[in-house]
Formats: sequence, C-alpha cells, structure tokens
Amino acid sequence: MKRFFDDREIRSIQRREEDNNLRLSAMVESGYRRSGRVREIFDGLELRPSDVVSVNDLDKLPVISREEVAELERRDPPFGGFCDETADIDRIFTSPGPVYEPHLGENELWGRGYFAAGFREGDRVLNTFSYHMVAAGLTFHEGLRSAGATVIPSGTSGTETQVQLIRDLKVTGYTGTPSFLIAIINKAEEMGYDFRRDFGLRRACFVAEPLQPSLRMRFEDEYGIDTYQMYGATEVGDIAYECPEKAGWHICEDVIVEIVDPSTGKCVEPGKLGEVVVTRLNDLFFLFRFGTGDLSSIIEAECACGRTAGRLSGIAGRVGEAVKVRGMFVAPSQIMRVKAAFPDIRFQVIVTREAYRDLLTVMVMDDEHYKSVDNTHFGKVFSEICAVRIDRIETVEGILPDTDTPIIDRREWD
Ligand SMILES: [Zn+2]
Repeated sequence: MKRFFDDREIRSIQRREEDNNLRLSAMVESGYRRSGRVREIFDGLELRPSDVVSVNDLDKLPVISREEVAELERRDPPFGGFCDETADIDRIFTSPGPVYEPHLGENELWGRGYFAAGFREGDRVLNTFSYHMVAAGLTFHEGLRSAGATVIPSGTSGTETQVQLIRDLKVTGYTGTPSFLIAIINKAEEMGYDFRRDFGLRRACFVAEPLQPSLRMRFEDEYGIDTYQMYGATEVGDIAYECPEKAGWHICEDVIVEIVDPSTGKCVEPGKLGEVVVTRLNDLFFLFRFGTGDLSSIIEAECACGRTAGRLSGIAGRVGEAVKVRGMFVAPSQIMRVKAAFPDIRFQVIVTREAYRDLLTVMVMDDEHYKSVDNTHFGKVFSEICAVRIDRIETVEGILPDTDTPIIDRREWD
C-alpha cells in the first residue's frame, strides 16, 4: 500500500532544497527569456538571471500582491506579461476582476492534499466546487482523480440534490467548504434522514474557507466525518495540506513558501508570524513571490507522518488585520486563542508607543473571574500564543467598551 503520494514527500530536507534551487534557477532562466514582465522586473533592478539561483536569492525580487497581479493584467491583458502565450496552454480560467489564469493541465495539482486526507480508489467523492469559468471545480476534480477517487461533479447544485446524490450514489467523501457541508447535513435532517446512520459519507477535505474548531468537532464527533484542510490560491494553485497528524499543513512539493515581513519583503525568523509568499515552480506562468496577504508561520519540527516538508501553522488572519508589536505580528486570531484559553475573562489588547518602544497593555474587566486568575499564568499563556510579552495589565471598572475588537493600535506615526 502506497503511504505517500510520491517519494518526493519523504526526501531529505537538504535534497528538497537542492532540487528547489535547481528548479528555481531554471524557471528564472526561462522566465527571463519568455516573459516580458520578468525581464522588466529584472532589468529594472539591474539583476541578471544568474543573480537568482537559490531560494535565499528570492528576496532580491519584489513581492507581488493579488491586487498588483490584477492591475498588471488589466494594463497588459490577458496575463500581465507573466505568461508565454505561445506555450501549449491547456485551459484558461477566470476569477472576478477579471483575472485570467493559464494552466498547463497539471492534473496532480491538489492530489497530494487529497491523498493525505485518505481519499483512494473506491471512494466516491462529491466535488461541490463550481466548474464554471473558475479553476476550482476542474482542478479539484483532477486532484481527486490523481489520488484515485471517483468524482461526482455536483458543483453548485442545491443542497437537496446533493443529499440525493449522497444517498443514491453511496458517496463516501466530500470536498468543498465546511459551511456548505453543514448546510447539506441540515437539509438531510430536514428531509428526515439521520446523516450518520443513513449515509456513508465519512471523509471531507475542505478548502477555500477556514474550518472553525467547533465545527470540526461537530463533523467528527456528531457525524463521524474525518476532516482535513488544504490551502492554496487561484494564482499559484495548491500551497499546503493537512496530514493525518492534523498539526499544521505540509508545504506542497512544487511551491517555495517564504514567510515574509510585509514592510521589508525579507523573511522573518522560523516560527515567527509573517505573510505567506509563494513561488510555484513551473514553466508557463512566471509569477515569482506572490503575496497571498495571509498570515502564518513555519513549523520546522519533524512530523510523525514521515513527510519531511515543513508545515504552515494554519492561517492566523490577513496581513492588514495584524498589529506589529516590537517587530512581531500579533493577529486578532491569536488574541482570540488566548480568549479561548480564559473564556470567562473579558479583555482587550492596546498597543501604544512610549519613548520609542512599543507597549502592549491588556485592559481587563475587573470582576470575580479575573480575580480568580493568576496573572503570571495568564502572561505565560499569552506570550506562548502571541510570541510577545505583556508589558502591563490594567483593570477596568465596569464594562469594556468594545471587546469585539481584540487588539487596538493606538500608536501615532509621523
Ligand atoms: Zn505530517
């Protein structure tokens, strides 16, 4: 029995690095020759293709955001100069914008995520992503096929149709968003079915929407559905996926992921929060350093599943929502995790600046719940989750004005 999608998943870290460097130099070489945009970027920075030959050289190039890709495609349609239009393009998708995405028909895209989620030959999987114009339906379809599963292209059909398909075709798996799966389950219950008893859907792989831990628990405990997550972006395809350990998302083998400080474009230290910046190693669309706008950090520790690729710690939020404190990003989602660890305590984080130093203050409602908490313990949990120390805790009499905003930046910049 095959344990991994392919052997590349278990090659040594050093081997992966060497392979990636070779593939990156080839892409730079090819892109400089065949993409007007790449040539313009390199020439503008007075760089030669021989200046970018390893992953460590990537930060000589600018990070390009989703908005910038869309703007460049508007100015220079249809592909913003990133693509060699004489190549044998298999298909062209569009996303709102419009943004155009040429594909070579890389049918293994997303396959490793589905494989890690346990989809195999004999599975019948409902693919509830749209097949119309956008990349999702067809690329997830082929990913499922490359893991061995049979696909039911149910697309955006209504929940009642999806329930019928699950029943009549003895569907064993689902891919789509978590919110649509819960809507299908609710519909099935409304139609008089007991989802767990009457149906055989036991595995789900989610993408394109965050999976809330409480919803995950419901799927797994109430409905007996083993759940997995994948992560990607239409501009670059699959980026990372969960393995059965469910402790972070392994980075895919055909992408280079950097975690970058958006203000400098340089990589942050391993383990620190920053923007996920992705380069897909390919020979068609020469987009280097795509800035996803998502915040994450890298887990370097070995994973018990045997895969050697580093993992993303999940998505902590969007770059714009995070507040930088003493050089470290603190995302609202991290504060929410602290709140989950101390559910009875009502608090809010305020960031100020005094004598050129950022100060992190926790304003906490002074009630009997707070009085029962050990401040040292609270501070320890806080700095474990947020990677920044609390400077002071201030108690507030009465009610905090706005605890829905977990972190507020009160610094003034000249
Ligand atoms: Zn793993």
